[in-house]
Amino acid sequence: MMSLNHHKSGKHFLQIPGPSPVPDRVLRAISMPTIDHRGPEFGDLGKDILKRLGKVFQTQQPVVVYPSSGTGAWEAALCNTLSAGDHVLVVETGHFATLWKKLAERMGLKVEFMTTDVQDDVLPHAASWRHGVDANQIEERLRLDHEKTIKAVCIVHNETSTGVTSDVSAVRAAIDAAGHPALFLVDTISGLGCADFRHDEWGVDVTISGSQKGLMLPPGMSFNAVSAKARAATASARLPRSFWAWDDIIEMNKDGYWPYTPNTNLLYGLSESLDMLLEEGLPSVFARHLRWGEAVRAAVNAWGLPIQCADASAFSPVLTGVVLPEGVDADAVRQLIHRRFDLSLGTGLGKVRGRMFRMGHLGDSNDLTVLAMIAGVEIGLKLSGIGLNESGVNAAMDRLSLPH
Ligand code: PLP
Repeated sequence: MMSLNHHKSGKHFLQIPGPSPVPDRVLRAISMPTIDHRGPEFGDLGKDILKRLGKVFQTQQPVVVYPSSGTGAWEAALCNTLSAGDHVLVVETGHFATLWKKLAERMGLKVEFMTTDVQDDVLPHAASWRHGVDANQIEERLRLDHEKTIKAVCIVHNETSTGVTSDVSAVRAAIDAAGHPALFLVDTISGLGCADFRHDEWGVDVTISGSQKGLMLPPGMSFNAVSAKARAATASARLPRSFWAWDDIIEMNKDGYWPYTPNTNLLYGLSESLDMLLEEGLPSVFARHLRWGEAVRAAVNAWGLPIQCADASAFSPVLTGVVLPEGVDADAVRQLIHRRFDLSLGTGLGKVRGRMFRMGHLGDSNDLTVLAMIAGVEIGLKLSGIGLNESGVNAAMDRLSLPH
């Protein structure tokens, strides 16, 4: 337990790109007494949640809920649909795509890791993680796969390590244009509930998500939205699975129950967060994330610092990666800001560690909390001796002054 001496006045600014701040309404719901997960009230709760949950995935198909972090849902998507030695294509958009690839390899899959980025002078890495998935490259690769050995195409919708999004519907179109039967697996762990995501319309076979980002819940719950094609694939998929197996869960979910003990209190929270998101309406939820993204980028541009995402059509509405000048330790700047303002920013991950930090603008925030984050970062950059062109706070205020 943290000592009371550590109490800081005011609220902590949790501006990492997830876990995002948990609203008081959700915290109150989670604090309700735990009930019997085999009792009648629980069945009603389960059925009600499962009826509404599909709306945020924009699907009529089943959504499987796991008491696990998002990594578990990655594993679930693979073990329910594939067999050892199967060839899968994963696109290297950033650190999370890299982790998913590693997980797939450890499960015995043969992973082809497709690089879409090139080296540039902002970030001198072989693949600099500054662009999203290139759908044309996927189409070309699939056209060359005459034997149809590639069983799945795996992409990350919103790369949380970089703030770069990928066009999911364009990848669907690429798979179709190549006439390829591969399953399409998409991680939207940090996109769901922030950015528009359409499981059914975009023809995704398994959508993977988690609780701790746009759903505004604490960590500990993850999801697989599952197409009919993905469910059919379970019949021939030979990877071992028990805890992750969709069949038993989907069967018991018909009555609102799970084959094992679900995380009851997080489900209370999920029920509340679904109320909040659906009462507000998804279009409004997406619009405010887009606005915050624009305000933060206006600030970063005014400072004169490069944004990690180099493609304006792929800017994330969830987070913005800020690249610092060569020789400046981005983590030291981040730590200074944390000490000084009780404001947490995301560290650079993997090969961009130390070169950039991430500003999260997601979930239970508003224009003024986003502005406060920008102010904290601006002062922190100045205190670190980084020369800034103009005030980012002013630029962000201008953006946030526009009617919406
Ligand atoms: N995929 C993405 C895009 C993520 O952002 C994360 C976590 O931040 C993960 C996967 C892994 O999820 P978890 O840390 O909940 O296991």
